[in-house]
Amino acid sequence: MIKYSWAKYNDKPIHISDVTLEMRKNGSFLNIITNEKMTAYLEGKFKPHFHHLNKTNFSNETYLHEVAKEVFKEAYLNSIENKIPFYLEYPINAECDKHFKQTKIICELGRKTETYDLTQTFDKLKVEKGFDEFVPDIQLLSTKKPTEIIFIEIEVTHKSTQKKLNSGNKIIEIKIENDLDIINLKNNILSFNKVNTQFYNFKLTTITKDFCSQTKKGCRESRKVFVLNKNGSYEFLDYYLESILGEIYSNNDNIKFVDYDLERFYQKGKSESENQIEYLNRKGIQIRECELCRYVGYSRKKINKKDVRLSLFCKFKKESTESESAINCEYFRTKKH
Ligand SMILES: [Zn+2]
Ligand SMILES: [Zn+2]
Repeated sequence: MIKYSWAKYNDKPIHISDVTLEMRKNGSFLNIITNEKMTAYLEGKFKPHFHHLNKTNFSNETYLHEVAKEVFKEAYLNSIENKIPFYLEYPINAECDKHFKQTKIICELGRKTETYDLTQTFDKLKVEKGFDEFVPDIQLLSTKKPTEIIFIEIEVTHKSTQKKLNSGNKIIEIKIENDLDIINLKNNILSFNKVNTQFYNFKLTTITKDFCSQTKKGCRESRKVFVLNKNGSYEFLDYYLESILGEIYSNNDNIKFVDYDLERFYQKGKSESENQIEYLNRKGIQIRECELCRYVGYSRKKINKKDVRLSLFCKFKKESTESESAINCEYFRTKKH
């Protein structure tokens, strides 16, 4: 005797674990493939199952294939009827334009998972009986967009044929190996993240929108940015764009010019400071460092018996200084020649 986990009840597929004594008393269970009457075995020394004394024999593959189609169909139609989303999770190439208006910067976020409710487009479904190599198991169809079709292939023993894949149609192939795989079809989600689900002929599209605002961490883009102040001082910044923008915003009145696309001038193989000097030269911006200031002085510092180090000293402020302090120093004046 062949034991089954699925049968039809009131014309819908039902798993043996969902059968109650009440249902067994009042209703009848039918074989999903042949519509023959079945008995629900619920308690005893065997695991619960449906059985009958039919003479028709099915391979387990045929059985899984047909049941999976019925269960998918039922889950999908139930979604449409009761306005419950049936989700498609698919990969996209994500770009964030949160800061584009101000900076002309698009954050490249790479692959992301986009979720879409299939029932918004696909409001009809067609199921083919049996297995035909050239006919899709299930077709999701759209009244709004008749040319858009998604094929759902239930893969038990066979993979979709190359011919089907070459047709260019969007195909979602679901591998069904056991009962649990079938039960999972009732979760109302088809996801490329699942190991048993393959997507074919879905183009990887790029979606540009404000992704960064939707994440907890916010925008994680780092940038090299150049800021020139009205007083002639300047800064090379290199950290999170979001923090830089905050700083620029609060300092806006003193700023003459901001360059968010510094790296287009950078040359590989050159050091950061070489690139910065190169950049300032190109832009005709006077380089500010204490060594070039008319107030520069040097103090000698003895390190040991032999070595003496020269350190910078500002004659104006009368204190030791570092070369870069000139960038923001209001007393910086170039030397007279
Ligand atoms: Zn199939
Ligand atoms: Zn961003």
